[in-house]
Amino acid sequence: MSHIPSRTLGAVLGAALLLAACSAKEPASPAPVGPDAPAEAAGAADGHADEAAEGSEHGHDGEEEAAGGSPHVHGLADLAITREGNQLLGELITPMANLGLSEADGAYSDVVLAELGGLVEISGGECTAGVPDPGADTSSGHADGIVHFTWTCARPDAVTAIRFAGFEAFPSFEKVGTIYITETEQKAGDLTPASPELSLK
Ligand SMILES: [Zn+2]
Repeated sequence: MSHIPSRTLGAVLGAALLLAACSAKEPASPAPVGPDAPAEAAGAADGHADEAAEGSEHGHDGEEEAAGGSPHVHGLADLAITREGNQLLGELITPMANLGLSEADGAYSDVVLAELGGLVEISGGECTAGVPDPGADTSSGHADGIVHFTWTCARPDAVTAIRFAGFEAFPSFEKVGTIYITETEQKAGDLTPASPELSLK
C-alpha cells in the first residue's frame, strides 16, 4: 500500500517541479520563482517526513510481529546445499503452511516428520542421507520451518543432481529456490513440480 501513495506523491512533486521550471522561464521577474520553490521544497520535505513516519511505524510493527524478518510467501521455499569434503549439508527454509502445518507454534506432526527424509534427493555420488533435523522460527507468528539435512557421499564429485521430491506429498509447495555451493562451483535454480531437479553437471 505504501508504494502507491509514495509514487503518487513523487509524480505530483515531479509535476510541480516541472511546472515551476517552466514558469521560471516565462516571467521576466524572478520574484515568483523564489516563493514557489521554497514552498515546494517544504512540501517535499513534509512528504518525506510523512513517509518516514509511516515507514518507521510499519517497521516497528514488523519488529514486533516478524522480528525484523521479511514476511514469507506461502508456496515458496528456499533450499541451500553446501559441500564440505565428502558431506553435503542442506538447509530448507519453508513456510510451515507448505508442509500443511500450523504456523502458530512451529510444531511438526508425526506424519510430516516421517516425510522429511524424502523431501530432498541427491542423485549420484553414492550418498547416504542422515536423519533430517527439523526446526522452526516462530518469532513472526508465521512460522518458518527450517530443516537441516546431511548426506555422506562416497564419491561427492559424482553427484549429478538435487531433486526436491516433496511436491507430491506436499502440494502446497510451488517453487523451491535451490542453490548448490562448493568451494569451486555454484549452481542455482527454481525447482517446481514440472521441473523438480537441479542438474549439477
Ligand atoms: Zn505464513
